[in-house]
Amino acid sequence: MRPVIGLEVHVQLTGAGSKLFCGCKADYRGMPPNTNVCPVCLGLPGALPVPNRRAVVQALAAAMALKCRIPGAIVFTRKHYFYPDLPKNYQITQFERAGGAPVCTSGVLEYLDPAGWVWRRARIRRINLEEDPGRSVYPGGSIVSSEEVLVDYNRSGVPLLEIVTEPDIPSPRAARAFVEYLLLTLEYIGAVNPRLEGAFRVDANISLPGGERVEVKNIGSTLEVERALEYEYKRQRLILERGGRVERETRHWDAHRRMTKPLRHKEEEAEYLYMPDPDLPPVLTRPLLGEAEALVATSPRRLLDEITGDGVPLEVAWSIVQARPAASLYMEARGRVRDPRVLARLLGVDYKGALREAGRGPHDPSNWPPAETMARLARLVEEGEYPPEAVRGLIIPGLVRDPQASLETVLPEKAEGLEAVVDEVIRAYPRAVQDYMSGKRRALDYLVGQVIRRLGRRAVDPREVRRLLEERLGGG
Ligand SMILES: [Zn+2]
Repeated sequence: MRPVIGLEVHVQLTGAGSKLFCGCKADYRGMPPNTNVCPVCLGLPGALPVPNRRAVVQALAAAMALKCRIPGAIVFTRKHYFYPDLPKNYQITQFERAGGAPVCTSGVLEYLDPAGWVWRRARIRRINLEEDPGRSVYPGGSIVSSEEVLVDYNRSGVPLLEIVTEPDIPSPRAARAFVEYLLLTLEYIGAVNPRLEGAFRVDANISLPGGERVEVKNIGSTLEVERALEYEYKRQRLILERGGRVERETRHWDAHRRMTKPLRHKEEEAEYLYMPDPDLPPVLTRPLLGEAEALVATSPRRLLDEITGDGVPLEVAWSIVQARPAASLYMEARGRVRDPRVLARLLGVDYKGALREAGRGPHDPSNWPPAETMARLARLVEEGEYPPEAVRGLIIPGLVRDPQASLETVLPEKAEGLEAVVDEVIRAYPRAVQDYMSGKRRALDYLVGQVIRRLGRRAVDPREVRRLLEERLGGG
């Protein structure tokens, strides 16, 4: 039984600088409650909204990246409902009817599904640009256990992109791959940092042959997208296999208990009284298209095609493209090496792996060395100057500790340079040498330590030191 899945992804434009209709910050994280507010985003009487140009340009860039049809003018629409986190009693959003016009309609995203390394296609129904509401905070932990509700308007008015797909996604795993690829595409535009807490939320709908469509709301991570849909797929299949009926309903994903639960109210029955916002004239798109186009110049797809065009396997290219600093390094250094595949492996597998092991993020450019360092290291590897174990075990961890270090300080000492130091240590510590010769094998560790100490800041492979000492002392 194959499911049919459609997604609605809400992405905060954290890269838009300010909120959608006022000058308050788009990234409110870490601020004391209700300090990132003004008359506009608090909905005070007489305050007038002014669209944030950067947010509109980023939305148009997203529309271009998803190959959507962009109208000549976009029209903001009021959606009325009453809730404490919505101070105006209406949300400024977009709507394709009632005189509105969304950022765009009918596009397509080709996304990479790493399960099997296949490209899939999902049609895009539309993209809306709208404002995020404020946040309700329950001091007692939940809506049930709290005696009071607090509202924080720091988030109120943050630009939010709503991307809606057609039901083209064939599996929970593919749904996760779609969201990951979409977020990466928006990240390359500079519109979002998906790693910020609460930067995106997903609503998913899923149906099986013979059953009604069920919507699952409130999914907060790409992993949860897969889990929630997997759960819902199994739940519906079980009902159908037992001859039951899957009702059309909206459910809520409980990430803690890892299950979907029915929502009490049927939200789709609400009457929103949509109308074009009389405070906001239509935004003409033509004058903004050039700016938007510049933002989509480097898309993940274009980079993947370039990198695999150098003969790099798709898995390695994908690993590089997923971390923007690695992709920039690759593009900058590829012309300075003989075999770009060696460079690609160093960046996408070895260095990125070492960063992960050290608990450092691959998305922070300051965790990566300059392109010149990577290019020189790639050339040393190409020439076979250092065995792969030395590169992975010593050189790369040395660079991860200090990415700005010059390559010389992290390169292991070559055997010739070492020999002199080894002889020096043998002469300086006759007691330890004697202990070792009379069978105390641990004395060798002491000698190895002395050699490494004398080498100071220069990196060295302890196994090489041990081998040289044993050779000099006749194997003990
Ligand atoms: Zn404001």
